[in-house]
Amino acid sequence: MEGALLGLGLSTAISALARWQRLLTRDGAIAAIAVGTAIFASGGWRWATVLLVFFVTSSLWTRISHVWKGQERENWAPSAREPEGRTAAQVMANGAIPVAAALAYGFGVAGALPAFLGAMAAMTADTWATEVGLLSPSMPRLITTGERVEPGRSGGVTFEGTAGGILGACTIATLALLFWPSPSLWLGTFLAGVTAMFIDSILGATIQEGFRCPACGREGERAVCCNRPTERRRGIRGITNNAVNVLASGWGAAVGIASSVFL
Ligand SMILES: [Zn+2]
Repeated sequence: MEGALLGLGLSTAISALARWQRLLTRDGAIAAIAVGTAIFASGGWRWATVLLVFFVTSSLWTRISHVWKGQERENWAPSAREPEGRTAAQVMANGAIPVAAALAYGFGVAGALPAFLGAMAAMTADTWATEVGLLSPSMPRLITTGERVEPGRSGGVTFEGTAGGILGACTIATLALLFWPSPSLWLGTFLAGVTAMFIDSILGATIQEGFRCPACGREGERAVCCNRPTERRRGIRGITNNAVNVLASGWGAAVGIASSVFL
């Protein structure tokens, strides 16, 4: 109970700060409070610190790419579709699997910690890869065909983005090693993050729905561009970037669990 209250207090303070910085929308801030409270209450301060490191570093990269690329970025990044910050749907797409793992941990379910760390490494790698990739001077290549695509196209990869994602996975794995000194947990978390980043890109290139603006011709994830609805060009209806994020974090959790069994 005390854990829940402390978690609620800390999550509210951090979400209010993020809301003030326009990193979260109003409903995004409420979702972030729910995610933070559940993870702090079930997993304790070490779990909450992993979540905080994901959130702070991802927000920093978003801010850096925003400053660096300015308006150009607005047309690209999924996180910039809402100029007021990340929405509740985006927060939940990142937070659903970690929260499920934290609740499982609270009930004493085996494998909950490696699942949580795997999912967090997956989300961190994906966010770092996206934001660092937007800073790349070169055109991304589609992970499936190698064809050059516009920046921001789901499934497009760059050297810089991939390196950033690997570094993000490494950051969560190393934080895990500080809190739970186990080399196999480090390796499992790292592998979960790196493989999930590639799964995210492959799903982004294949089943994720993509749109094209009939006015300006830009390809992207936006349902509206140039003040008019865009046309769906590929992917499966309803498989949004958020759906792909849930699948990729689920993959990360699965790799985390498998690694804890086999490594
Ligand atoms: Zn347009």
